Amino acid sequence: MIQFKHVSKRYPPGIDALPDIDFEIGDGEFAVISGHSGAGKSTLLKLVAAIERPTGGVVLVNGQNVGALKRNAVPYLRRNLGLVFQDQKLLFDRNVFENAMLPLSIAGFPPREAAKRVRAALDKVGLLEREKAMPIALSGGEQQRLAIARAVVNRPNLLIADEPTAHLDHETARDVAQIFRDFHQVGVAVVVATYDSGLFPEARRIALNHGRLA
Ligand code: ADP
Repeated sequence: MIQFKHVSKRYPPGIDALPDIDFEIGDGEFAVISGHSGAGKSTLLKLVAAIERPTGGVVLVNGQNVGALKRNAVPYLRRNLGLVFQDQKLLFDRNVFENAMLPLSIAGFPPREAAKRVRAALDKVGLLEREKAMPIALSGGEQQRLAIARAVVNRPNLLIADEPTAHLDHETARDVAQIFRDFHQVGVAVVVATYDSGLFPEARRIALNHGRLA
């Protein structure tokens, strides 16, 4: 599902975030990327999502060389990926339902089928009752759950999350962790970057130390 072959990533002016990394994540696998701040966790996920391009080596996702994708092919890649990233903010002038609907509206889904998928996703994260609420009225944990619902309305086979439990208290973090577990249990591959890998004891741990596998 994901293959990194001798992948390196250097940011200007010469920061080697990942000097040379090799690993695979299989279909339906549950993996946690752990490591200190600055270890390269976000960079690794951004390479998977084609947010960043590798400086060297090959990143394959679902058999596609994502580092070599043309810019106009990236949206097609993303349709099979669910992304939960800090910088993908919720729209605070749209309600819960509309936020979760966004990826399907952009993809031009027929509204009735889209609404069905949105409600199924909101149900999975326990937000169905709150579909009319505005994001400002949600707790931090609920906002994170909405971000997850929005990431999965396309029914991706791979869900990627960067520090999805940051800024949450421990109990709320455990609830959010459980949602990732639920998706894994229905066959979705899940890759979570987190400083708190204790939240995911059953996941395979890929530990990074200064951009190298520890
Ligand atoms: P983590 O997610 O583990 O905290 P990152 O992948 O964010 O690690 O960062 C790895 C290294 O790359 C750090 O030294 C960081 O400062 C650097 N870095 C990350 N993004 C950029 C960028 N856009 N430009 C320059 N340096 C970056």
